[in-house]
Amino acid sequence: CSTLSLPSGRITALQAMDVWAKHFEEKGVIEPEQSSQFIIAHLLGAKTKECLERKRLTEFLSCEKTEQVWRLCTRRLSRMPVQYIIGEWDFRDLTLKLRPPVFIPRPETEELVELVLTDLQRESRAGVGSAAQESCVEVGCGSGAISLSLLKSLPRLKVFALDQSQDAVELTRENASRLGLQDRLQVSRVDVMKDADRVLSLCSSASALVSNPPYLFSEDLQSLEPEIYRFEDHAALDGGEDGLTVIKQILTLAPLILSNHGRVYLEVDPRHPPLIRQWAEENVEELRFVETRRDTSGRFVFINKEKTFH
Ligand code: GLN
Repeated sequence: CSTLSLPSGRITALQAMDVWAKHFEEKGVIEPEQSSQFIIAHLLGAKTKECLERKRLTEFLSCEKTEQVWRLCTRRLSRMPVQYIIGEWDFRDLTLKLRPPVFIPRPETEELVELVLTDLQRESRAGVGSAAQESCVEVGCGSGAISLSLLKSLPRLKVFALDQSQDAVELTRENASRLGLQDRLQVSRVDVMKDADRVLSLCSSASALVSNPPYLFSEDLQSLEPEIYRFEDHAALDGGEDGLTVIKQILTLAPLILSNHGRVYLEVDPRHPPLIRQWAEENVEELRFVETRRDTSGRFVFINKEKTFH
């Protein structure tokens, strides 16, 4: 073994986890222990250290495995996120393929999905909406996390997923096929900021418009961890000066995309809800602000509903 410059000689998986965790820590890599455990468990065919039998953990790594550990852990030293190194990550009950620069789904977005699901399930039970197949639009689908979660849990739903990035469109399609959810999904490459007409020609009469839009304030981008700043698509993060650029566009299009009783579900910055409420009241007559919810990680979820004139 020519590989690991750290201890000489052969080491076990457990020792490798320890050695690399320390090395990451010394080099200022965030979440050093989890990083080394996830990478090494992945190379041994498991999701986490806990999923590995004791025997596998205490066996010596082969030269080949040691090389692989070295190669992948070195990527982490460059601050590449573990999710990209491993190439897949779990989002709720789905395992999604991930690759740079497509936005890595965050745990807080799982809560957004729960909210949407609860609403859509309640509405279909109550018979709100038409008898026709219900549909949902996602703006900025990234890896497909939100759209695919909804499709998996709602067997009658049809989803129109949009993203301005070709990488994202391809990844969402790939994830959909891997999960066998491609039949009720239409993925389109379209920039909602530039091509509103195309958005409207693709989607109409939807029950829900869901998005985890780019909502960071531009000036905050530089203070992001290198994992995010260097590797993820800034177009999925940068919401302009006030973080509201894409959100305003979504709200402008919403009444045209949604059916009566349709709703917009957004993940936003904690500072945004009052600003969004005010902006929507002043600018989009057909929208009514319904509620804001705080999720466990301190983010806010903002819900809007189309005003009904009946
Ligand atoms: N939650 C993301 C972050 O903290 C931001 C996501 C977004 O802009 N949609 O990096």
